[in-house]
Amino acid sequence: MTAQPPTPEEPPAFWCDAMLGGLARWLRAAGYEAAWVEGIDDAELVRRALASGRVLLTSDSEVARHGAVQAGRVRALLVPPGKRKLEQLEFVMHALGLRPRAPRCMACGGRLQTVPRESARPEVPPRTFAWCQEYFRCERCAKLFWRGTHWERIAARLGSL
Ligand SMILES: [Zn+2]
Repeated sequence: MTAQPPTPEEPPAFWCDAMLGGLARWLRAAGYEAAWVEGIDDAELVRRALASGRVLLTSDSEVARHGAVQAGRVRALLVPPGKRKLEQLEFVMHALGLRPRAPRCMACGGRLQTVPRESARPEVPPRTFAWCQEYFRCERCAKLFWRGTHWERIAARLGSL
């Protein structure tokens, strides 16, 4: 795949460094594509960000000093170390002027599709199924989501950004 600069109307997508797995999950919940690989080394991270045209997020000033970043071939944002996950999310969204979008799968970043309630029944605890009307499935990893207490909590935190 060749790196194509994203068109203006396309939301930014991200590559997160090895320390920012939590941020990647929250970015997905906020509706943005965010890749993260456990234990990825800095050179590989920069290479993948370069190849994908994604914005590199790092708390590591060493990564920020990498040649491709310095040369401006990789767009990178240094997330100040010592922040909690939600503070990191807040920082990134503020720095890039982003607003929360339709949530994506927190596990992989895939798009969520509404699925018929009845089709979700086998995978949902009976007590949850009794009250929950809306179900979503990740079109990439097939994980099922519903608007449970976890979701509400996330939506509330994102709404406060
Ligand atoms: Zn998924």
